[in-house]
Amino acid sequence: MLTIPSPVDALLNRALAGEDLTEAEGVALLLQTDAGAIAAIRETADRLRQQQSGETVTYVINRNINFTNICEQHCSFCAFRRDEDEAGAYWLDEGAILEKAADAVQRNATEICMQGGLHVKAKVDDRALPYYVRLVQSIKQAYPHLHLHAFSPQEVQFIAREDDLSYAEVIAALQEAGVGSMPGTAAEVLDDAVRRVICPEKIDSQTWLDIVQTAHRLGMPTTSTMMSGHIETPAQQMRHLGLLRSLQQDSLSQGYSGISEFILLPFVGQEAPKPLRRRVGRDQPILADALLLMAVARIFLGNSIPNHQPSWVKLGLEGATESLTWGCNDIGGTLMEEHITTMAGAIGGTCMEVETLRSAIESLGRPAQQRDTLYGEILNGEILSEVEV
Ligand code: SF4
Repeated sequence: MLTIPSPVDALLNRALAGEDLTEAEGVALLLQTDAGAIAAIRETADRLRQQQSGETVTYVINRNINFTNICEQHCSFCAFRRDEDEAGAYWLDEGAILEKAADAVQRNATEICMQGGLHVKAKVDDRALPYYVRLVQSIKQAYPHLHLHAFSPQEVQFIAREDDLSYAEVIAALQEAGVGSMPGTAAEVLDDAVRRVICPEKIDSQTWLDIVQTAHRLGMPTTSTMMSGHIETPAQQMRHLGLLRSLQQDSLSQGYSGISEFILLPFVGQEAPKPLRRRVGRDQPILADALLLMAVARIFLGNSIPNHQPSWVKLGLEGATESLTWGCNDIGGTLMEEHITTMAGAIGGTCMEVETLRSAIESLGRPAQQRDTLYGEILNGEILSEVEV
């Protein structure tokens, strides 16, 4: 007897055959509540992960440096920012930053991830760009081999605004100073109605896309992120993923750099400012929602962006490990310190030892492999393969 596949199975079969699903089809997957349908989505994401990225799960040895938490903006999810005269405000000097970099090198880091608040006094000779360039140069001069993954599209726009420069001029100067790639943070949800509530002073969606594409055009790879699980709808989540996919396809088709990975950042609200926390109505992410979204992200984006990473800071190591069976192929970095989400009340911790990450990966019976920022393979501290992004 001929069995007719359910609409969900039909979508999943098309994805398994290599087709890109539409945003509306992604929404249909996100709206599934039946346990059998959700299990089929997970299994499809896992199979696509296997086809697109293999069995190996990668990790990076890196260190976060958030050089200041003084910020002119007031994002409604942010527990990290401070006014300059507020308790807990800090601004690291060059010596403190170099000490952290030295510690990272001593612990075999290959990457420093550097981002900070938007501090209007962070200037040299009354200009912002030389301050940021000096930050980069001081680390690169001391440790030329470290990859600097630094300054979000929002920080690029801030520098450009302060110094009356174009985005391209800012990115080119940062690149020349030694920045190797741009974090795709500040994307939150690329929908201006959502942004008006959660980050009203931030760059709008189009500006985020323009800055990331400018980086790609100038040969600077980026990552991509989404902050999920607050006020956004499944349609807005899929629009966000749709914009990332088009951006990646556009950049790659023109021979530019591209997006090296997609990272899901579920909203942690425990210490976030009260209005948004009350509106969302919970302190910690719902793991099941994050897992389903990661699976759909794999199914929807995997042909264009093959590397997918959960956030152990936000989901805890157990949640992040489970994500590796819902479409993810990378467990992220050691971080060594984490302030932004921890100050929001995240339970995942601020630092992971390499052994802890490797054990989590190996508990699934999958091989663990150190990588560099751009997914080149690393063995005994040596970069074995370079990956073009
Ligand atoms: S998320 Fe970033 S830009 Fe927004 S308030 Fe916090 S530090 Fe400032």
